[in-house]
Amino acid sequence: MRIWGIALPSRAPVSFVVDGERLRASGTSTSDGLWLLPGLVDVHSHAGTEAPTDAYSHEVFRRHMLAHRAAGVLTVRSPGSADPVLDRADDADLPRLARSGRWLATPGRFFAGAGRRVEEDELPSAAVEEAVAGWCKVIGDWMPDDPPVPLDVLTATVDAVHAAGRRVAVHCQTAEGCRNAVLAGADSLEHGMHLDHSLLSRMAAQGTALVPTFTAFAGVLKGLEKSSDARFREWIQGGWEHAFPTVRAAYEAGVTVLAGTDNKPCGEVAGEISWLIKAGMPVEAAVGAGSWTARAWLGLPGLVDGGFADVVGYDADPCEEPDVLTRPRLIVLRGKLVG
Ligand SMILES: [Zn+2]
Repeated sequence: MRIWGIALPSRAPVSFVVDGERLRASGTSTSDGLWLLPGLVDVHSHAGTEAPTDAYSHEVFRRHMLAHRAAGVLTVRSPGSADPVLDRADDADLPRLARSGRWLATPGRFFAGAGRRVEEDELPSAAVEEAVAGWCKVIGDWMPDDPPVPLDVLTATVDAVHAAGRRVAVHCQTAEGCRNAVLAGADSLEHGMHLDHSLLSRMAAQGTALVPTFTAFAGVLKGLEKSSDARFREWIQGGWEHAFPTVRAAYEAGVTVLAGTDNKPCGEVAGEISWLIKAGMPVEAAVGAGSWTARAWLGLPGLVDGGFADVVGYDADPCEEPDVLTRPRLIVLRGKLVG
């Protein structure tokens, strides 16, 4: 198979042949080909369950991952899963998976009955256990007026996981929870809804990414009038309005902002990219947040000689016409034509 076109983000004309699962530069390229990305990436997707309280189902996992693949999403990070099996080999048909273990929830935090429940003093060792595949996911706070995981506990947790060579994603939505996640040195803030902008320079300096998950909150917002809890409604509405200037300011401060949907159906990261654009990120940075920037952050190469043969092609430049991201013309995963 030969693939040629304009590669993003370099905008260089490229020509590759597929050699097994790898790309090999070959011959001269023409500029008539497709616009090429190294696949889209959804960095926050819980494949395998429809809701956090469901039992993990591999059949559901496959369905979710195939929906991602059909949309050109060739890499998925799962920050929190119901799946207690941490050593399952990757399925070659499915997008690449960066996985954490189970959601780690301390008392009073997270959906009742969901995730792995631990006491605060057990969190550091449990996090190391769950991070065996690369990531762990800590529920750092929960409802608006409840205390977050204390800073000393979260710091000990992040330190223990880092000492094991793994990374920590922290769910945080309150200002205090976000602050603790940043001060503890988390690798990513998931949601970061009420994040104080004074923390952005520290996030940039220490390499803490922000995954704002607009797609999920747009869904919460739709059902919000049904909630009888006025405090909850005000907290969500205020957080939603705060998230737009936060994403813009985070980008400008040099924070890595990434596209994650945290939502069903799977395969809608193009919609998250459009939310990042609405928040004021330059279009190219927003497309990168759901593609090459996210891949690099996960340690995966882009469209280079010897890189993985993961390629999605479009008829137009997604940085000029981001809507084209919903209409992939070519999908190649691990060297196989799949769409
Ligand atoms: Zn989530």
